[in-house]
Amino acid sequence: MKVTEHLGGRKETLFSFEILPPLRGKGIEAIFEGIDPLMEFEPPFINVTYHREEYIYKQRDKGLLEKISTRKRPGTVGICAAIINKYKIDAVPHLICGGFTAEETESALIDLHFLGIDNVLALRGDPIKSESTFVPEPNGHRFAVELIQQIEALNRGKYLHEESQNQQRTNFCIGAAGYPEKHYESMNLKTDLAFLKQKIDAGAEYITTQMFYDNDSFFSFVERCRKIGIKVPIIPGLKPITSLKHIAFLPKTFHIDLPDALSDALMRCKSDAEVREVGVAWCIEQSKELKQAGVPCLHYYTMGRSTAVRDVAKAVF
Ligand code: FAD
Repeated sequence: MKVTEHLGGRKETLFSFEILPPLRGKGIEAIFEGIDPLMEFEPPFINVTYHREEYIYKQRDKGLLEKISTRKRPGTVGICAAIINKYKIDAVPHLICGGFTAEETESALIDLHFLGIDNVLALRGDPIKSESTFVPEPNGHRFAVELIQQIEALNRGKYLHEESQNQQRTNFCIGAAGYPEKHYESMNLKTDLAFLKQKIDAGAEYITTQMFYDNDSFFSFVERCRKIGIKVPIIPGLKPITSLKHIAFLPKTFHIDLPDALSDALMRCKSDAEVREVGVAWCIEQSKELKQAGVPCLHYYTMGRSTAVRDVAKAVF
């Protein structure tokens, strides 16, 4: 079933979450162990992130270094198929522009279609660590909107090459990313929203947001989206802060601000346990207010750890 069908048919705010594929060489059991405790909150779908290649250097003879391209977290599509099979719920694979030619994207979409996966979150992806700006593959997509256009074309039976036109249509429900505090490369929120609108006009049917810690930024984001004619459902993304490491890592990595009241409380924490207490309590309050405001779904970033999300969900759902 499509994400938009779940959202449309809901009686109250839904619960969903995002997981990361395990590191290369680790088994899928850890994924199931993370999902199992969250199943009692009846997620209609689970998102699975996509991680592109990165370069590692291996020491070789005579002091030489060999540059090797590797994907540390492969398995997005396989995990989606495993989720559908094991839990009989929907899975939403993330698909990115980075590292893919349009041809490879089409092949990936054909695989998803054959597996009966009819949801995709379409993203650009970040630059790889060795690049300061995003560089698309030759004949790849520069922006998420171009990926969305390709998926939408496939939904109309329009494949890349003339000889395979008017073939079987895919049936993907396309999601796009939104940033309540703006995307870090954008001049300002106004231009970022204009590009978000392009993604919707190209065929994205709902928006999932970057994590945020100030609900006012989300409410104002939704209001500004509505003002420029973005009418699709907007799903807020939330992440409980659970460790001292998170305090520096989350703002730096995701380009987000923490409100004063939260940063004041975190500054007083001396241990991970204290941070977790503050972070979970904050996320519970955020979730309750958003639920009260009637958001279609609360979407949690587990970043590989589901216990804090479980504590939040227990208090909210
Ligand atoms: P875009 O929509 O292409 O926007 C990128 C930037 O370009 C923005 O500043 C935008 O304003 C600007 N822009 C957009 N269109 C145009 C245009 N036509 N002309 C000029 N400028 C334009 N990353 C991963 O690698 N894997 C994941 O699984 C993943 N999951 C995510 C899930 C969510 C919910 C979110 C919010 C982000 C996720 N990301 C993931 C991170 C995402 O890939 C990065 O934030 C990336 O930098 C931007 O992706 P985007 O799809 O928003 O890009």
